[in-house]
Amino acid sequence: MSETSIATLIAHLPSTEAAATVLNPSNGRKIFDLPQLQEHQVVAAVKNAKTAQDDWSQTPVYTRERALLRLHDILLANEEKLLDLLQLETGKSRAHAFEETAGAISAAAYYGKISGKTLARKRTKAGVPLLTKTYVDHIPVGVVGVITPWNYPLALTMLDVLPALAAGNAVVQKADNQTALTVLFARHLAVEAGIPEDAWTVVTGDGATVGNAIVDNVDYVAFTGSTETGRKVAQRAAGRLIGCSLELGGKNPMIVLEGANLKRAAEIVLSGAFSSAGQLCVSIERVYVANSDKAKFLEILAAKTQELKVGKSNDFSVDIGSLGGYNQLQRVSGFINDAVAQGAEVVAGGKALPEIGPYFYAPTVITDVPETARMVRREVFGPVVNVEGYDSIDEAIEKANDSDFGLNASVVGPVKSAKEVARYLHAGSVNINEGFRASFASMQSPMGGTKTSGQGRRNGPGGLLRFTETKVIGIASTALRLPSRAKDYEKMAPLMRVLLKVLRRITL
Ligand code: NAD
Repeated sequence: MSETSIATLIAHLPSTEAAATVLNPSNGRKIFDLPQLQEHQVVAAVKNAKTAQDDWSQTPVYTRERALLRLHDILLANEEKLLDLLQLETGKSRAHAFEETAGAISAAAYYGKISGKTLARKRTKAGVPLLTKTYVDHIPVGVVGVITPWNYPLALTMLDVLPALAAGNAVVQKADNQTALTVLFARHLAVEAGIPEDAWTVVTGDGATVGNAIVDNVDYVAFTGSTETGRKVAQRAAGRLIGCSLELGGKNPMIVLEGANLKRAAEIVLSGAFSSAGQLCVSIERVYVANSDKAKFLEILAAKTQELKVGKSNDFSVDIGSLGGYNQLQRVSGFINDAVAQGAEVVAGGKALPEIGPYFYAPTVITDVPETARMVRREVFGPVVNVEGYDSIDEAIEKANDSDFGLNASVVGPVKSAKEVARYLHAGSVNINEGFRASFASMQSPMGGTKTSGQGRRNGPGGLLRFTETKVIGIASTALRLPSRAKDYEKMAPLMRVLLKVLRRITL
């Protein structure tokens, strides 16, 4: 991206004294300096957004839908630029950037089509049939704060910002410093599609400073990030009694059933565990395979993993790109070094690849990791998969569920048995014969986690309705005389009792 284009995009941000230097993870070189906002600038952004929201909420929902459908077409027309930008800021391979772009574009089409229907006024069964009527409206909450991480800047932006806008809210979004350009470009395209300038504001800066200012001022928060930060956001939002949805970390298991095709299972691990170099919340980090299959499976998986091409390229010739930066490299190598020091065996990878670039790490298969190793229970968030054996399916299910997280899970094997196992797994999604894409790609299916993986769901109609309040309108017929004095109740009581019995039969 040229310096002029970068300057045009960051012109959206107010000027600041402080700036953060953003590096290209693939080569460690500086891309640009990103303004770092102070608390008062975020407060001003929310205030401005509130004014814009008053007008935006008055636009008919089909006008908002049309803007989203136009955005869908504009995103498609700009796909190559989006892919370049995603690769520049995240270091991910073209293939993984492509997967992300496809998800973002689907979100625009989905909310461009279902919002009117989902938000439409709904009649509800009246308390006193014929004499009262009730209906429910969905009212936008006001200004929605969206806080996004660096790893999927385009998809995660679209999955939260678009339904918030479609519901008639304004959005103030905190983009992560590392991938703010992608978010700013997405917003720029949305404005081109007809979203008013001030209905979607992007802010950047220190996580706690800007994050706190958002949570303290908006009407609802959609947070995506680590469980640790999510807890802080939830506590702060609870103090103000505002709603929040939390899409947090995972430690996602896969069970390979006895009788599964082991070659196929290994291929599913390649995409399930190494997409975006494993820096994906729904990435598979633990694989449980029958002890009788374990040696064979490890042999196949190690061979396939070693065949993966790691590198940097703006075409589709590379399987896996770079980690997101210095902190990610420290994190991933720290987990592996700790496990190896405690006796774990690396069967593929297990090392950084500085000959390619400063933050590249080889896709890694590890086994026999002792329970005391840090990576057993914590999210590695890198291209690392830990393979363990099991003796019975009950043991496999118990091991899969033995985690504080509950975001995603996978079962590989004959579909009938896999569906049965899926019933017992504690996770927001279970993918059969896939790592995560079967559920993740469905815009209509709610996505989110149980346990410490979060609360609330994005996608589906619920992903839109979380950004609304319901308002019930009750209308009494002028012919209805409801009691107002104690004596009236006494007179009405026999009739009421009959009515309650009738209602028991006719209402659901
Ligand atoms: P993070 O929690 O460090 O940061 C996420 C965002 O929160 C960033 O924009 C950051 O600047 C901001 N932030 C930091 N401190 C804050 C505070 N006190 N208040 C408010 N905001 C604050 O997470 P990360 O390292 O950027 O992202 C990786 C994590 O995100 C992983 O755990 C991953 O599993 C998770 N994730 C979850 C999903 C999902 O849908 N469940 C999707 C992507 C990533």
